[in-house]
Amino acid sequence: MAVNLLDFDLEALAAWCEAHGEKRFRAVQLFRWIHQKGAADFASMSDLAKSLRDKLEGEAEVRPLPVLSEQRSADGTTKWLFDVGGGNAIETVFIPEDDRGTLCVSSQAGCAVGCRFCSTGHQGFSRNLTTGEIVAQLWHAEHRLRAERGLAAGERAPGRGPGPARAVDNVVMMGMGEPLQNYAALVPALRVFLDDHGYGLSRRRVTVSTSGVVPMIDRLREDCPVALAVSLHAPDDALREALVPLNRKYPIGELLAACQRYLARAPRDFITFEYCMLAGVNDTDEHARALVRLATGRGPAGEAWPRVPCKFNLIPFNPFPASGLARSSRERVAAFASILQAAGVVTTVRKTRGDDIDAACGQLAGEVLDRTQATRRLARRRTVLQLVPAGAGVAGMPRQPSRSEA
Ligand code: SAH
Ligand code: SF4
Repeated sequence: MAVNLLDFDLEALAAWCEAHGEKRFRAVQLFRWIHQKGAADFASMSDLAKSLRDKLEGEAEVRPLPVLSEQRSADGTTKWLFDVGGGNAIETVFIPEDDRGTLCVSSQAGCAVGCRFCSTGHQGFSRNLTTGEIVAQLWHAEHRLRAERGLAAGERAPGRGPGPARAVDNVVMMGMGEPLQNYAALVPALRVFLDDHGYGLSRRRVTVSTSGVVPMIDRLREDCPVALAVSLHAPDDALREALVPLNRKYPIGELLAACQRYLARAPRDFITFEYCMLAGVNDTDEHARALVRLATGRGPAGEAWPRVPCKFNLIPFNPFPASGLARSSRERVAAFASILQAAGVVTTVRKTRGDDIDAACGQLAGEVLDRTQATRRLARRRTVLQLVPAGAGVAGMPRQPSRSEA
């Protein structure tokens, strides 16, 4: 089968070219055709030698993802459903703002972490995406949106200052899947996003969001430190375990220590903590005060925890069928935010975008053949989370699934 050139970062493409008797600068030319100009057809790559084009025709391809649907929300948010074969589909969301565009990219078909409040998690896990499938999401979005806006590669976008015209200014790995559980495919994809001959995004404008895979946070720091968002969702281990099963393996104290180590090489001097606001579950004043303590390096019982310079991003829960959870009211979110802000903790509330087309955080479900029995496991755990009074932790926890189940 022909190799998919979307699987290659520039180094890998250079190695492929060298193995085919071509000089490195040819790889740069080819890489620019693919990623900067959105070309998939080797015949159109006019400055490549005919001999190289012939080799490429025979052995390689640029393999886009088949688009199953494209939906546009009233607020301009665009969601693509891509076919990744085997009965699986993944979703990618573009969120336009006045001065920039953000693309929310998927890393897996489904997710094995199984967070209680996440639609993807409820679907279970099918498989990791390849590097090419991760990159293809940006490749498609960037070139489709450019074409729609009548922008050619290299043009200056009106009102956007210097730099090549681009549609996507930020990439956030916040679509379906846990990116740090697909590390081997993730890192080359990030390199394509960052490469000046690729999409030329700065490290500050590429964000990996994780539910807290501690050893991989350390590896990312060494291999490709981009901006990091950590899905915290609770100020103490008991509640976090009920919401994010991975917490049993990597409790908050260890997660904070990894965040602290990460900051030594991160492109930003803070970690973003995401916090999904669930009515009656994690949204009381006491939870907010516990987060203030966490931000100042203290655990729930006043014990020392690693102090991590951070910002909080509160995400009002986006409901999906059968979640059994409710979104905190606007007033509750505002009161919660003001407790953090009054204590000097920078806190923003994420605007919900694209919920009319189910494109908001946690609503991405694609279509996934569950190979992990997560659906059954979550059905068992549905009784675990009960609405709790302020500060009471998690009441009525029945049997905890074992680590190997999580
Ligand atoms: N697996 C990674 C990235 C994908 S999820 C992670 O968990 O960080 C992206 C963000 O959406 C995470 O912060 C996640 O907690 C949040 N999220 C998931 N389900 C949600 C829902 N139903 N409503 C609001 N936010 C949700
Ligand atoms: Fe997976 Fe993230 Fe959803 Fe948790 S929130 S189930 S880690 S995609």
